Order: sequence, then C-alpha cells, then structure tokens
Amino acid sequence: MSIQVFGLPVSRGVAIGRAVLVASSRVDVAHYFIEPAQVPEEIARLRRARDEVAEELVALKQEVPEDAHAELVALLDVHLMLLHDEMLADATKQWILERHYNAEWAMSAQLEVLARQFDDMEDDYLRERKADLEQVVERVLRALMRTSRRTRGEEPTAPIAPRDFGGDDQLILVANDIAPADMLQFKRSVFTGFVTDVGGRTSHTAIVARSMDIPAVVGAREASRIVRQDDWVIIDGDAGVMIVNPSAIVLEEYRFRQRQIDLERARLHRLRNTPAVTLDGERVELLANIELPADAAAALEAGAVGVGLFRSEFLFMNRQGNLPGEEEQFLSYKAAVEALKGLPVTIRTVDIGADKPLDRMSNHELRHEHTLNPALGLRAIRWSLAEPDMFAQQLRALLRASAFGKVRVLIPMVAHLSEVAQIRAGLEAAKQQLQQRGQAFSDVELGAMIEIPAAALMIRSLLPHFDFFSIGTNDLIQYTLAIDRADEAVAHLYDPWHPAVLRLIEHTITEATAAGKSVSVCGEMAGDPAFTEVLLAMGLRSFSMHPAQISAIKQRVLRADTKHFAALLSNAIAADDPQVAWRSAAGQR
Ligand code: PEP
Ligand code: MG
Repeated sequence: MSIQVFGLPVSRGVAIGRAVLVASSRVDVAHYFIEPAQVPEEIARLRRARDEVAEELVALKQEVPEDAHAELVALLDVHLMLLHDEMLADATKQWILERHYNAEWAMSAQLEVLARQFDDMEDDYLRERKADLEQVVERVLRALMRTSRRTRGEEPTAPIAPRDFGGDDQLILVANDIAPADMLQFKRSVFTGFVTDVGGRTSHTAIVARSMDIPAVVGAREASRIVRQDDWVIIDGDAGVMIVNPSAIVLEEYRFRQRQIDLERARLHRLRNTPAVTLDGERVELLANIELPADAAAALEAGAVGVGLFRSEFLFMNRQGNLPGEEEQFLSYKAAVEALKGLPVTIRTVDIGADKPLDRMSNHELRHEHTLNPALGLRAIRWSLAEPDMFAQQLRALLRASAFGKVRVLIPMVAHLSEVAQIRAGLEAAKQQLQQRGQAFSDVELGAMIEIPAAALMIRSLLPHFDFFSIGTNDLIQYTLAIDRADEAVAHLYDPWHPAVLRLIEHTITEATAAGKSVSVCGEMAGDPAFTEVLLAMGLRSFSMHPAQISAIKQRVLRADTKHFAALLSNAIAADDPQVAWRSAAGQR
C-alpha cells in the first residue's frame, strides 16, 4: 500500500530509490559499496567479527563469579544465541551478497529489520529482547570497526555507485535524526536523498543537505517508523513529502519531474559566467557558503565570486576529543584560500554549540559538559572567548592563511561591545605572536555576524569596530521570534516574513550601507528566490548561499529592477502580513 508522509521541504528536487533505515545512533556507521570481488573477504570479515564477539561473551560468562545472579549467565546465553541466530547472521550475509553493502552497513540494516519485528511482538518479554539484540549488534559493530577498511584507510574515497556493480537502485537514507556532523560524512556518500523525523527548515542538518544539493525532507515525524528497510520511496523535496511504495503511475509522474528538474538545472547552469547585474544596472555579489575546503571547487564551478561564509566549526566535529590545532586549521584555510584563486574567502570563527555540539569526548576535555539551553548558552564567539587558547590558535591559523589570498574573518553571534574589545585584542595578540615567530600574514578584514536582535538594533554602535557585516537570518529569525530553528513542532511559526524580522534586516542593511560598510546576508534567506527582490529592495547587494542556489538567485537578479522594488518596500514592511502585501505589490504569485 502506498503511503504519503508529510514533513518540511528543506532541499529541492526529487529522489527515487530504496529506503535505507538507519538508527540515529548508528548514522556514523560506514556506508559504502564493496566491489563484487571483495564479497568473500567481506563475509569473512563479518564471520571473524562474530567469532571475536562470541569469544568475548564466553569469556565474560566464565568471569561471572559463582555467587552471582544466575540471570546474568542466562543473559549472556541469550546474547550468544542472538549472535548466531539465522535471522541476524544469515540475513546480514545476504545484504553483503546481494547488495554489496559493507559489513557494518549490512549489520545495521538487518538490525533495523529485526528491531521492527521485535516492536510488533505482543509478548512483553520477547519485545524487550530488542535491547539485547541491539547490544549484540553494537559489539559486532565494534569488532568490525577494529578491522574496518576505514581504519586501515582503504575505504573508497569516492563512493561506488550502485550502478557500478550492475544495480540501478538509488538509496535514500531514512533516520529519526541525523546530527550535522554525521550529515557531513554523507557529502561523499551513496545516498541520493534524506528523510528525518525531526528537524526544522534551517537546522544545520537541513543546511548541509541543501549544500549537498540532494532532495531532503525533515520533520517528517513518523517517517522512520512507517518506512521499512528496502521499501521503494520517493522524496519530493519541493513539497516536503515522502511517498512510500508508490504506485506505477505516481512513479512515472515523478520520473518525469526528475527529468524536468535536470533540464532546468542545466539551463540555469549556463548562467554561471554571466555577471549578476539587475535590469537597472546594479551589480550584485553572489558568494558561496561552504562547510569544508573541498567545497570550494563547487563554489567556483557555480560561478561564486568568493566565499561569503566558511562554517569553520565543521572542522571541529566528529574529532573524538582530538580537535584540530593551529597547523591543521591553517592547512584547511589555506586550501580553501588557494582554491578560490585570489577571490575573497570569508571564514567564520567556530560556531560550536546549539545544534552543532562537539562530540562528548571533546566537550568533556574542555569541561563543557552541561548545557541547559544550548541555543542560548555557550555558543559561537561566547565559546571562543571561553576557550582563549583555542581562539588564539584559530586566529593565528586564519592570519597565516591570509598570506596566500584574501581572507576575511567573520565573528558569529556578536552582541556585546565588551566582546568586540576582546576580539580585537585577541587578533592583535595573534598578529604579535606571528611576528615574533617570523611567520607571514596579510591584512585581514574583520566582520561581525548580525544574528541576534540586540546586534541588529545596536548596529550603529558596532559599525566603527568592524570592516564588514553579514546577516545570519537563520539565527536572527530564531532569536527574534523565540523559535528553535531545529524543532519541527514550532516550524510553522519560523517565519522569515514576520514584520519584526524584516525590519531588523532592513535596519541593518540601511545603517551599514549608509556608513559605507559592506553588508551581506549569509542565512538561508539569501538562497531562497522568494526573498531576492525584497532583499534587493532593502539595498542588499551581496548574497551568500550554497553553490547550488547561485544560478537560481542570479536569474532573479538579472530580471529585477531595484528601483521599482525599492518603491514598494515601506508599505510591505508596514503591513500586518508583509508576505501578502509584497507579493501583491510586486505582482508575484
Ligand atoms: C545564520 O544564522 O543565518 C547563519 C548563517 O549561521 P548558521 O546557520 O551557521 O547559524
Ligand atoms: Mg547563525
């Protein structure tokens, strides 16, 4: 039976493929295809891991003291039995044999199948055995990790697509949740679409999905419960719908849509070398948002005239306590700067916190264990100022990279003038240290993100202290409307058209422009064609977005007359419903 599951559209396009269900806790399990010739070795690796776990369990049983509870021994027996159960052992092997999944992936895929069966059991005792199964699988996964091709550095750097071994099915990841850091590893993965139960439109998971330019739906509540391993699914990333087991007619309809989208993309791509100039001759700067230095190539390919936001915190995620030091950071920033060949690269100092936490081990080492309200807590520049050594390392790395191109340093979540003084002092100290070491650096511009309403309201006081400004609309909306951007339960209230939001954005653009400071928008609004004209009308001439969004925004810019739109702005912003007022005045649907 075909089922539709509704969520939030976060990354456009259509994906059609088989569902790969992954438990949130196992999203970081390696997912890759193996070559047909590697199948016997992969099965042997699985067998070895199973044997290792069996030995572990037997040893544990022997260590149980005589007087210990008999239940403990019985429990270990249950684990041994589950380990050898055909439903786990043989079926896992089948995923390797038939689908060429790597052993870890095969194991977790089969766990999802069995977990569902346990959930459906009437008998309480049997239902509770699911936890035992999970523990057993966890042990096998750990054993596999010890011999993984990833650990040995042999995991393919480019994912092998299913068609490379004769299969045609695309794969779609379905999970309750995916952390932004885990999402990052899917940048070079086998998945062509994502669906998660939780998440908001501008959660960082959604942002990374958009940066990968693959269809995604988040906040789909029940998705991971409804879909079963290997079901056929369609993701409609424009409507925010996942269709499970579609009928042949629906499938054909979506295949047609997919072809149309491809044609449209190819058409837009032809604009990549066209300068972004409006009908009335206003030049507009279209910059790229990136997460990793490797994304710089996509930025250039899309026709970006620089990087407007490099979210450096992604270098700090998934590090298991081993955070990147000055040298490693320097090499990453240098790589991005060199890739941009003289175009400006705006690198944001780490914005750790909120929905981008460090892993537990790193937090523990830094003694940042307990956060009551992460979005309002030790996040972004607050975190950096609380970790002066790490901040100094990052500033030195950024300065050193400036010797290789044009670097602009952007500070997230500025709200207090006292922070400004500390930032400036930190930058000066970093320069002095480099001078003492005899290491080269150039002038770097210092910018502030305006993403807290207080900062937008006090923009005049900030103007003298910074060379440029970048409006982070994702957070500005979150903090203005008191809506957690990652919470699907309040996603309907997360409204970029809210008059208060528009007024803060306009105020910031007007004041910064009047003071002769450059101002950009780097939040998701910049890459959403629905806002291009209204932002141009506010006087914005610099937009930063995911590379994949650049051509669509450029098309809007090329067709816009800023004078015409500017005349409509004040009425629209003053209206109770600016969206309706703007659209009817601008003649948009
Ligand atoms: C923003 O808040 O708009 C922004 C660009 O930063 P981030 O999405 O990383 O918080
Ligand atoms: Mg932000």
